[in-house]
Amino acid sequence: MIGAVDIGGTKIAVGMLNRDGKILARRENPSGAELGLQDGLALIFSMLRETAQQAGGELEGIGVGCTGPVDPSTGTLGQIEFLPGWEGNNIAAELQNVFGVTALLENDADAAALGELAWGAGRGAKRFIYVTISTGIGGGMVFDGSLYRGVEGAHPEIGHHVIDPSGPKCFCGAHGCWESLAGGPALAARAGLSSALAVCRAAEQGDAVARLAVEQEAYYLGLGFGNLITLFTPDVIALGGGVMHSRHLFSDKILQTIQENCGLVPYEKTRLVPAQLGGDAGLAGAAQVWIKGSSA
Ligand SMILES: [Zn+2]
Repeated sequence: MIGAVDIGGTKIAVGMLNRDGKILARRENPSGAELGLQDGLALIFSMLRETAQQAGGELEGIGVGCTGPVDPSTGTLGQIEFLPGWEGNNIAAELQNVFGVTALLENDADAAALGELAWGAGRGAKRFIYVTISTGIGGGMVFDGSLYRGVEGAHPEIGHHVIDPSGPKCFCGAHGCWESLAGGPALAARAGLSSALAVCRAAEQGDAVARLAVEQEAYYLGLGFGNLITLFTPDVIALGGGVMHSRHLFSDKILQTIQENCGLVPYEKTRLVPAQLGGDAGLAGAAQVWIKGSSA
């Protein structure tokens, strides 16, 4: 069995999976990510021991998906906004020392892309893009079975390509990037409600302001997906993240926008499908990081 560690902005999840992607045991700690480095690592170690004991198999290796930036080639954490003080820690080496098996680290969106490709919506796709749309927008791209990496292993930030240069300033430096216009908070703000989910609920009940906000959201989503299709003409784009739970509200306008913007490529051949792993995407992805990396 494979140990999986998913470190996000708001929680740490740990699990044991078999090679078919089945989760044999799992633990989750909502406050984990707020801990300092030493307490955080101690928590991860104990969650791994507990889940390994519960699952009862032999631990082959450990995969880690972590909110970025991370350096997959060394297993080192970068300067992560949600994990102050963790920068420079070689979490892969620490896990290796403690558990005596190899450990591999990957950006969490890239990990989720690998998980969806192996066990979810991307199965069999030669050119696969996974996009998650929630508070932020992120994703990973897998072409011919290999995770696409940028220069020196950099993780491309598909959520921060510019949709409208006259749009709001984002922390990434750009004005009107995809995340700043189509992330959950942008949708909520457009309708003056507390969350994207609240806007979607109000739109379903016919609220005019919410419906307009949803229409605008779908347009921005369509522009972003259209850009990905024009640039990469992938077989499949899998849509994950909380906002996509309400994709029925957006899909017509998304498809219309893609049609209007992607005239030079066979856009109709790209399948936009819901991600399939849902809440398991993080752990499945982390396990797949190790399976893929250890067989390379
Ligand atoms: Zn941005």
